[in-house]
Amino acid sequence: MTDIDIHIRNARLRHRGDARFSIAVRNGRIAAIEPSLDVRGSEEIDAGGNLVTTSYVNPHLHLCKVWTLPMMEEAALKAYQGGVMAKARDAIDLASKIKDSYDASWITPNARRAVALAALYGNLHIRVFADVDNKARLEGVKALLAVREEFRGIVEVQVVAFAQDGLVREPGADRLMEQAMALGADVVGGIPWIESDDAAREAHIRFCFDLAGKFGKDVSMLLDDVGDPNMRTLEMMARETIARGWHGRALAHHCRAMALYPQPAFDDLVGTLREARVAVVSDPHTGPLHARVKELLARGVSVCLGQDDISDAYYPFGRNNMLEVAFLAAHLLWMTTRAEIETLYDMITVTPASAINIGDFGLAVGAAANLVVLDQPDVVEALRFHAPPRYVISHGRSVDLTRMRDLAGLR
Ligand SMILES: [Zn+2]
Repeated sequence: MTDIDIHIRNARLRHRGDARFSIAVRNGRIAAIEPSLDVRGSEEIDAGGNLVTTSYVNPHLHLCKVWTLPMMEEAALKAYQGGVMAKARDAIDLASKIKDSYDASWITPNARRAVALAALYGNLHIRVFADVDNKARLEGVKALLAVREEFRGIVEVQVVAFAQDGLVREPGADRLMEQAMALGADVVGGIPWIESDDAAREAHIRFCFDLAGKFGKDVSMLLDDVGDPNMRTLEMMARETIARGWHGRALAHHCRAMALYPQPAFDDLVGTLREARVAVVSDPHTGPLHARVKELLARGVSVCLGQDDISDAYYPFGRNNMLEVAFLAAHLLWMTTRAEIETLYDMITVTPASAINIGDFGLAVGAAANLVVLDQPDVVEALRFHAPPRYVISHGRSVDLTRMRDLAGLR
């Protein structure tokens, strides 16, 4: 084998015990995985018996709002986190105040810093939400599209045009959403539960699917993000997915209200989600209520983890480190057996990769070479330390981590 770009030797792989492997990377792809390879790469990496896996995927991040918490009072955070999240809608209205001063000129550097952090932590595919409404206008979309282009080839960013303040209750948002898609947004984003009644919620969902159909794009919706046992927009969205033939192209986020559903309603919902091939993204660290992750997993629904927020109105921490997100989820969901920790690792790698329709993802010969070389030998140790990888390989090239640290403002 000739012209190898990167040769990683002495690597442990998931589910392969203590055996060591060599991985050859050529032309952006994994060319070989063998116990040993008689090759010399332009770059030689000795993994030292540590774990090498696919890179991480974050399917949910409000990238236009990162680092805005210092710009506002904590009223929204208190309303969102309080009690069983019954006041989540008030929180969104309070948080929207920041958008009076929305401007791509300050959103872009904030977003750049967050995406550089993602690269440092081996998080190479992110679905990001840009608010689209009368206050935000298209400032968030423009900023995130610019950052998407800046990081192309290092971190792949999917920009969601997101009607955060509603469509029926926010006249004019529909026209702005059309414009956002025409500007080049990748995904149509909705939040039907924010509307005032079920008729408006159905109309909101129909609009999003119409727009997705017009532009041939996927749909991502924030659903039932409130402590209300009667909120059913996940069910509505999954039914619309089936009706439109959009199976596997609609992703559900938050879905916290299902924690309060009576069992028969939950059972019906599971059947609909499976038929629609709707996966659920949960972020249990950003609110006191969360989707019934273990029950969904046990019944064959795909579930992934997302970062959700980085220092915004809803959550003070976050650094785009998906190992940290999985570590927090291990505690909040009580997933601490070895098998459950492997599942958590899937929930930040292969499961979200499939949920946001990244082709070519995986640690397999022929797949795109998006890899992390860790400083730990297995997934339990990886979660324990949730440390940055020693090497991050994106599209078959080593990421310049010194440059990423600079862009992230860490030096
Ligand atoms: Zn969110």
